[in-house]
Amino acid sequence: MALTGIQIYKYLPKTNCKECNQPTCLAFAMKLAASQADLSACKYVTDEAKKALAAASKPPIRLVTVGAGDKKIEVGNETVMFRHEKTFVHRPGLLVRVKDTTPAADIEKTVKEVSGYKVDRVGMTFGMDGIAIQNASGKADAFAKCVEAVASKTDLPLVLMATDPAAMGAALDKVSKAKPAIYAATKDNIDQMIELAKKYASPLAVRSSDGLNELSELTEKAAKAGVEDLILDPGFRGFGDTLVGLTQMRRLALAKRFEPLGYPVITFPGEGAASPDEEAVLAAQQVAKYGGIIVLDHFSPAAAYALITLRLNIYTDPQKPIQMKPGTYQILEPKPTSPLCVTTNFSLTYFSIAGELEAAGWPSWLVVCDTEGLSVLTAWSAGKFDAEKIAKTIKAQNIAEKIGHKNLIIPGGVAVLRGELEEELPEWKIMVGPREAMAVGGYLKENWKT
Ligand code: SF4
Repeated sequence: MALTGIQIYKYLPKTNCKECNQPTCLAFAMKLAASQADLSACKYVTDEAKKALAAASKPPIRLVTVGAGDKKIEVGNETVMFRHEKTFVHRPGLLVRVKDTTPAADIEKTVKEVSGYKVDRVGMTFGMDGIAIQNASGKADAFAKCVEAVASKTDLPLVLMATDPAAMGAALDKVSKAKPAIYAATKDNIDQMIELAKKYASPLAVRSSDGLNELSELTEKAAKAGVEDLILDPGFRGFGDTLVGLTQMRRLALAKRFEPLGYPVITFPGEGAASPDEEAVLAAQQVAKYGGIIVLDHFSPAAAYALITLRLNIYTDPQKPIQMKPGTYQILEPKPTSPLCVTTNFSLTYFSIAGELEAAGWPSWLVVCDTEGLSVLTAWSAGKFDAEKIAKTIKAQNIAEKIGHKNLIIPGGVAVLRGELEEELPEWKIMVGPREAMAVGGYLKENWKT
């Protein structure tokens, strides 16, 4: 049972030294109780107190790792129901399932496509996260052969899906170094699956077809046997039952600190959908609430792009916008006579304007001001993108020395800054660009004379 803030406070030094970045020990205790702080932030806690507080500082949803190396998937360790309360931290893994009954050439094609898929978004590269391989044939040797073949074609993490412990054991023998997840322990095979999870030090997915009570009994049994890296499949498959069920599980884990359900969840949206499109919609629901590993039955770049973008939007800290480093960026090898634009350091803003300049074929200089990651209008209304800031940045960047003109294009959304900017930069001609980035190509065609 979790400790309350007051109970935790009794174990703290009560010096209010503030080194944990909290104003008082009591405030730190309250943060610990709400799983919004880490006990290690206070270096004055005694070993005895640490032991007593271990339960309070333990994450309510265990962090589980699938796979090894750079591409491993880490899921769990979430501490809030809603992103706006703090942030969601470990984005769900997006996997694609293949079956050992599918012709080898088709499996190879899918694995190649999934492994090679890449998306560039706001300066970061994303892709799919893994492959699930199902023992649909029911044969141990066919499964092991298929798993070995898939592993030889990808370095993505694997989830091995078989209910027969003999088939699972044969497959694990081939790929144990890759630390694949074992799916699934059920009430009929849990003892053997626990032994396999211990032998190969792999995470174990536990599946119930009879609700959360049975699922809790199974996870308690696995944890007691020493297997704590667990993944939950509560058996929900449709839109409604998945939404209600996963929300209930998250609430039980966070609010009630119900440890048997304090693990990430694996979902199979294809099993609850009537078409590949519906599968993508259900997967999107599970990205938002509360899938940990999402196994798709169909792969299409269009659906993958939408899911990856949605996931990026949800799994970023709303208090820390994705930012560009302030500075001068060159688009398409600009010359001294190329246009000079200025914008803010919110990544989405930067990539919108940079992408449009590139697409329109305009080599340009793009000066990025430090607006603490705010977009143009937000930064302007917060006083972080004003004439003084722009002029200071232009001067600090020595941009006049790099280019052969003094014409500066400001975003159309802040046309109001033109007069002030002309006062701040008296030798410059200030031009008002379009309000929307997508119009920049047409604007330059009409207004920029080289
Ligand atoms: Fe109290 Fe420790 Fe925080 Fe100092 S660092 S205020 S002693 S909880």
